Amino acid sequence: MPTNYPIIFNKQHFLIIPPANPKCSSPFLQLNRRRCHQLAFLLSSAATSDHAAELHGHLITSNSLALPYLHSLLVSLYARCDLLSSATAVLLSRPSQDHHHDVSPAACTAVLTRLSRSPCPADSISLFSLLRLRCHLPHPNPFTFSALLPACRSSSSVSQLHSLALKHGVACDLFVSSALVDAYAKSSDMDSARQVFDETPRQNLVSWNALIVGYLHNGLFHKAISAFRELLQLADSTMKPDQVTLSGSLTASANSGELNFGLGAHSLTIKTVPDSLAYVNNSLINMYSKCGRVNDARKVFDQIGERDVVSWNIMMAGFVEREHFEQAFVFFQAMRSLGIAPDEASFSTALHASSNLAELLMGAEIHCQVVKFGFAENRCISSSLITMYSKCGNLEDAHLTFADAKDHLNVVSWTAMIAALQQHGHGDSALQLFDEMLEFGLQPDYITFVCVLSACSHTGLVEKGFKYFSSMSHDHNRMPGNEHYACMVDMLGRAGRLDDAKQFIEEMPVQPDASVWGALLGACRNRRNLELGKEAAYKLFEIEPHNPGNYVLLSNLYSIHGKMKEANEVRRLMRINGVKKETSCSWIDVRDKTILFTVHDQSHNMTPEIYEMLRKLEGLVKEKGYVADTLCAVNDVEECKEHGLWYHSERLALAFGLISLPEVAPIRIKKNLRTCEDCHTIMKLASGIFQRQIILRDTNRFHHFVDGSCSCKDYW
Ligand SMILES: [Zn+2]
Ligand SMILES: [Zn+2]
Repeated sequence: MPTNYPIIFNKQHFLIIPPANPKCSSPFLQLNRRRCHQLAFLLSSAATSDHAAELHGHLITSNSLALPYLHSLLVSLYARCDLLSSATAVLLSRPSQDHHHDVSPAACTAVLTRLSRSPCPADSISLFSLLRLRCHLPHPNPFTFSALLPACRSSSSVSQLHSLALKHGVACDLFVSSALVDAYAKSSDMDSARQVFDETPRQNLVSWNALIVGYLHNGLFHKAISAFRELLQLADSTMKPDQVTLSGSLTASANSGELNFGLGAHSLTIKTVPDSLAYVNNSLINMYSKCGRVNDARKVFDQIGERDVVSWNIMMAGFVEREHFEQAFVFFQAMRSLGIAPDEASFSTALHASSNLAELLMGAEIHCQVVKFGFAENRCISSSLITMYSKCGNLEDAHLTFADAKDHLNVVSWTAMIAALQQHGHGDSALQLFDEMLEFGLQPDYITFVCVLSACSHTGLVEKGFKYFSSMSHDHNRMPGNEHYACMVDMLGRAGRLDDAKQFIEEMPVQPDASVWGALLGACRNRRNLELGKEAAYKLFEIEPHNPGNYVLLSNLYSIHGKMKEANEVRRLMRINGVKKETSCSWIDVRDKTILFTVHDQSHNMTPEIYEMLRKLEGLVKEKGYVADTLCAVNDVEECKEHGLWYHSERLALAFGLISLPEVAPIRIKKNLRTCEDCHTIMKLASGIFQRQIILRDTNRFHHFVDGSCSCKDYW
C-alpha cells in the first residue's frame, strides 16, 4: 500500500484509501482529521460514476457517511456525474429528526439544478417539497429558486415559488427576479412577468432580456418592441443591449413587419456589436426577408462572413414566401455545393418549392438527399415528400413514401396522404385511409377534415359527409371553419341540391367568406342555375372585387343562357373594376426541361410539328363525335370561336407531349387557370385514342385522364 498521501486513483482507477481504524466506533473518531481531508479531496475531485460508487462504498464501510460535510460532498458528486436517482437517495437518506446538521444548501441546489434540466423537470419540484417536509432545507436561498423556477410548467406553480421567495425575502434578488420573469413568460403569463420585472428595484440586462424574449415567445411582438425602446431610453447608459437583446428586437420587427424599427435595430447592431454572432446575423436576414425586402436580406447574406445552415434556410424560406420557388431551389443547390449539410427545415423548404413548381425531377433529387442524410424517417419531411409527389402528379411515389414510413407518422403525414388521394380523384380510398387513421388512434386536425369533406363531396357521399361534419364538433372537439362550410356547399351543389346549399349558407353560425360563396357559384355554373349564380357572384364581387374568376364564371353563365348582353355587361364591370384576366399558360416537362406555352403560342422551334399534330388530333376526335363547346371561347365571331379553342395553351402542350415524349410515358401538364370544358373533353378523348395517361393539374385539382374518362368525373 503506498503511503505518500493524498493518492487518488491508481492506474486501474481503483481508489486507494488507508483502512479506517477498527477500534473506534464514532465516525468523528474513526476518521482522523487527515483522513477526513483526504476523503473530502477525493469526493470533490472525482468525476466518474465508478469513482462515485466506490467512494460511496467506502463512506458506508468506514461509517463516515454520517459526517454532514462528507455526506453533502457525496450528494454533489452524484449530481455532478448526473446520477440523479443516487444523488436523491443519498440526500434523503439523512434521517429527518437529525437537526444537528442541516443538509448543505449547495448540495441540494446542485441536485435540484440537474433535475430541472433533466427530461423530468417536475422531479425537482417534488424533491424540493420532500426536502422541506423533512425540514432538510429550512432556508432556501436565491440559488435554490433559480434552480427550481426553470422546472415550472404552469403559471400557478411559478406563483407558489414566487410566494415562497417573498416569504424568505429573496424575491427581489436579481437572480431570482430574472428567473421569475423567465418562468412566468414560459408559462404564458406575461402580466405577472411584467409585474415582477417592475417590482425589481434595479433590473440588469439579464432581466431585460428575459422580458423582451418572453414577449417574443408569447407572440407579443409590439410589446417586445416597446420594451426594447424603454431599455434604450434608460438614463443609465452603462446598460447597453447585447446580442440577445438585439437578436430579440430584430425578430420582433420581423414578425410584426415593423421595417423602420428593424432598420434602427440594424444600425444599432453595427454600432454596438460589429462582430456579431451568427444568430444575430440570421435575425437580421430574417428581419429583411419577412419585411418584404428580399434584396436587402440578400445583401446582408452576401456580406456576413459565417453562414450556417440557418442563414441558408432563412433565405430559402424568404423566396418561398414570395413565391420565388426557382430561386429557393437555386439556393438549396448552392448550399449543397458548398458542402453545408441540410437540416429538417432546409429539406422541407426545398420540397415545398418543388411541390409548387410541380418539378418532379427536382423533388426526386431532393428525396435522394433526404435518404442520404438520414432523414427518411423524419415525420415533417415525410409529409413534405408525400405532398411533393402528389403535387407533381405522381401518386404512386406519394403512396410508397407513405407506406414506408406509416408506422411512425403523425396526423400531418396521414393528412398529406389523405389529401393526395382526394386531389387525385380517389375519394373512396381517401375516406378508407381516414377510418384507418382513426383506428390507429390519431386525432384528425382542421385540415384532415377539409380533405375528408372534399372526398365525400367528390364521391357524392352527401349523407356520409354530413355524418363526418357533425362528428367534428361532437366526437373530435373541433369547430368547423369556412373551408369546411365551403366543402358542404360544394357537396350539396354537386348532388344538384342547390336550394339546400343556399339554405345551408343562410343557417351558418359564422359569416360566410369567399370560399363558401365561390363553392355556390361553381355549383350554379355546373348546374346552369342563373338566378342563384347571380346572387353568389354579386356577393363575391363585394368580398373579393379583384378576383377575375368570379366575373368569368358569371359571364359564362349568362352566355349559356343566351344572354349575351348581360354577359358583356359583366365583362365591362370587370374592366371598370380594373380586373385583368390572367394570361393562360401551360407547362410540360420533357427531358429535364420545362416548356411553357401561352394561347396561340408560336415561339417554339417545333411549332410546325405541333400545329400539324393539333390538326391530326382535331380529325381524330371529330371521328369520335366531338363537337366544339363554343361557349368556352371568348371571341365574338362564331367561326373564330371554334378555331380559337384549338390554340388553348394546354392543347399546345398536349400536342407537344404527344410528339416528343416516348409512347409509354404519361403526359404531365400544369396550367395556371382552371381548364375549360372543351379542353377537358379533348384530353379525355386523346387519352383513349392514343392510349396515353394524361395528368393535367389546373388551379382547382388534378385531372387523370385514362381510357377516355377523367378522375374528376367531369365536375371540377
Ligand atoms: Zn381550353
Ligand atoms: Zn377532369
